[in-house]
Amino acid sequence: MPKRRSSPSRPKARRVRRASKASTRRNPAISSPWRLRQSRGLQILELAPLAKLPWLIHGFSTRPGGSSALESENVLNLGFMEWDSRENVLANRRKFQSAVGASDFHLIPLKQIHSSILHPISAPPANPCIGDASATNRAGLLLAIQTADCVPILLVDPKKRAIAAIHAGWRGTQARITQKAVGRMQFQFDSKPSDLIAAIGPSIGPCCYEVAADFVTKFTAQFADAHEYFDEPRTGDEPNPLQWLNMKPPGHQPPPKNVRLDLRKANRAQLLAAGLHAQSIFVSDLCTACRTDLLFSHRREGPLSGRLMSVIGIRP
Ligand SMILES: [Zn+2]
Repeated sequence: MPKRRSSPSRPKARRVRRASKASTRRNPAISSPWRLRQSRGLQILELAPLAKLPWLIHGFSTRPGGSSALESENVLNLGFMEWDSRENVLANRRKFQSAVGASDFHLIPLKQIHSSILHPISAPPANPCIGDASATNRAGLLLAIQTADCVPILLVDPKKRAIAAIHAGWRGTQARITQKAVGRMQFQFDSKPSDLIAAIGPSIGPCCYEVAADFVTKFTAQFADAHEYFDEPRTGDEPNPLQWLNMKPPGHQPPPKNVRLDLRKANRAQLLAAGLHAQSIFVSDLCTACRTDLLFSHRREGPLSGRLMSVIGIRP
């Protein structure tokens, strides 16, 4: 379960003041082929090309509804957080499973650690596996990823009827977890990457994911196209005027710059590199930090945030 340190915002986290609800309440327009399905009092985000597969169950949770109270709002928190009770979370998970039509499935969450470790799952483990991706071709198992800004990715092989779920924050992205997961599906299930469909769910967008400038170096060292994941280097929102007093002479220490990182683009690039067709990769444009009316954002809300869950399973 991702606690505070598991958010992608961890390095040089810049706590953004929580915006008033009024400013985040917007018409929740969802762009096709994504859609919000109303079910049992919840709103489930789903992807039409996956929803049409009769043997498959999938869904991305959203914030409204649920038994948890967060600042007098009822929310569907699906992760064990300090501010919420275990009973509430378990009740929310049951409600969510019911809403996606998977009440009888075994929920398989992971103990997420921002690694590139994938677990092939053939039976419900006694304790959550430690890692950040899971895969199966067995029915009745509901693979689950928890996020609140990180990128959740669901992979489906319609031909071999195999599935995977991936948690990709900046560390997992840098460790190529998404690309490796496709490799594991080839190895484990004889999947052809060109057959796979990928759903990249709601995550923090490049609009809101500001990181330290040394991330450019971190990613450029490993990815040939890393420059495409970043916007132009720029100064922070509130430059400290004292910086000028403390600044070293020219040629020494430049003032710190921040950049914005597009984790979705980085993971999409890994899927393409692994052999998926561009038309089989679907990226939700919902930003967790822009849309705290609908989603949870660790970076925007801090410890008083919930966890979203992305699930996928094969019907018995
Ligand atoms: Zn945003």
